[in-house]
Amino acid sequence: MSESVYAPLIKLQKQYFQSGMTKPYSFRMDQLKKLKDLLQTYESKFNDALYSDLRKHPQEVYTTEIGAVYEEINTAMRNLGTWMKPVRTGAPFFLFPSHGTIYPEPLGNVLIISPWNYPVLLSFRAVVAAIAAGNTIVLKPSELAPATSKVMADMINDHFDLGYLHVLEGDGATVVGELLDQFRFDHVFYTGSTAVGKIIMEKAAKHLSGVTLELGGKSPCIVSKDANLTVAAKRIVWGKLLNAGQSCVAPDYLLVHASIKQTFIDLLIKEIEAAYGTNPLQNGFGKIISAKRWKQLTSYLNQGSVLYGGQTDEQSLYVGPTIMEAVPMEAPLMKEEIFGPILPVFTYEKEEDVLKIIEQNPYPLALYVFTSSSKTSRFFMDNVRFGGGAINETVLHLGNGELPFGGVGSSGMGRYHGKFGFDTFSHQKGVLKRATWFEPAFRHPPYSEGKTKLWRWLLK
Ligand code: NAD
Repeated sequence: MSESVYAPLIKLQKQYFQSGMTKPYSFRMDQLKKLKDLLQTYESKFNDALYSDLRKHPQEVYTTEIGAVYEEINTAMRNLGTWMKPVRTGAPFFLFPSHGTIYPEPLGNVLIISPWNYPVLLSFRAVVAAIAAGNTIVLKPSELAPATSKVMADMINDHFDLGYLHVLEGDGATVVGELLDQFRFDHVFYTGSTAVGKIIMEKAAKHLSGVTLELGGKSPCIVSKDANLTVAAKRIVWGKLLNAGQSCVAPDYLLVHASIKQTFIDLLIKEIEAAYGTNPLQNGFGKIISAKRWKQLTSYLNQGSVLYGGQTDEQSLYVGPTIMEAVPMEAPLMKEEIFGPILPVFTYEKEEDVLKIIEQNPYPLALYVFTSSSKTSRFFMDNVRFGGGAINETVLHLGNGELPFGGVGSSGMGRYHGKFGFDTFSHQKGVLKRATWFEPAFRHPPYSEGKTKLWRWLLK
């Protein structure tokens, strides 16, 4: 078999790591600072690229992509010293006299594979964590956001050492396929669809590479009759229509208490029009990423009744903000992650009924509950398995770097953001240190009844 074109790159990345250069605190801090400076320099290029790929408004680019990466970098720089410090632990009495120490150390050479929907955020938030943890990094952005992928490749590859941090562009199946088939990475961090997540995990398993999988799923949004409905409508419309609904944590469908259904739908429509007017396309509403996805989304419009919206335009890959009802649970719209600006609404009478609906698509990535009752929110926290979420808010749990972010079951495995990202890209080396002034004879053979009795007392 001929040598892979990526062999020199991977060799360099492994050598760079082996040299130990990435380990010192000062090196990691310098790289984080350099990345932030570069992002600042390239901000306007990213604005243009994200407009071309997804018709993102600069405000959305700043708040949900670049600004959010600055926040991640700032958090890492503020805390790096503490995160890197070995942590001393206690030890059980039977190990007297000893203590433990946990040494966080970099995993080595890692691969980060990112999707198209928030290409800057979902590439660099993981890259920041991997830099902070002291790894060498190959980043593979999505080919479906080609303009942004190109700016990322230019920015990184023109300014970072090939052996340290490098962007590889191109078709996912081809590039990632070859990388994972031919090389062993010390960790693979993947964000994208559940279907491709399975391929990644299977390929990584052949090398026993660890994986973090940040996947998708259907995220329910529950609106209880005691919620602040005006605020709920504003926050749901914002979270659903951000990036034209193409957010992994967008509220996928709404579960509204039957008694407030019409009032709430009227409020949603009011908020949609306050945000985007009656002609969102003219007001810069985001673009669906591809003709394939556009066709998929438009097919959903026939799977129930359209209460509001439903406008589409193939040429501009536009699907307008849409509210639907009467969607059968077995329709593709309710079986697949919608990933677009279509919001089906269902009603419920009892909280237990909500659980039955959610259970049809288990393990959501996110769950949102709007209620003023802590009993109601607690009920859903205790009874639904989901990756993470928010009470009286949508999407913004991502903004709190003190919270772990990740899925569960089919919505993913592993977590990142802030310290959780540092830990994901670190190995926690646990070491016991025992004093030598005391050597208990009862651990050593010859074994005896007396010694066994003592162990029974120690480990009861
Ligand atoms: P995508 O098609 O851009 O794929 C993601 C990455 O996988 C890309 O870099 C692509 O090149 C690569 N890829 C594609 N096919 C591959 C293959 N056969 N083998 C190896 N690599 C391959 O993105 P997508 O999957 O369409 O993204 C949308 C999905 O991602 C949604 O389900 C969404 O919920 C999920 N998502 C999850 C998160 C999260 O944080 N959990 C964030 C964003 C998106």
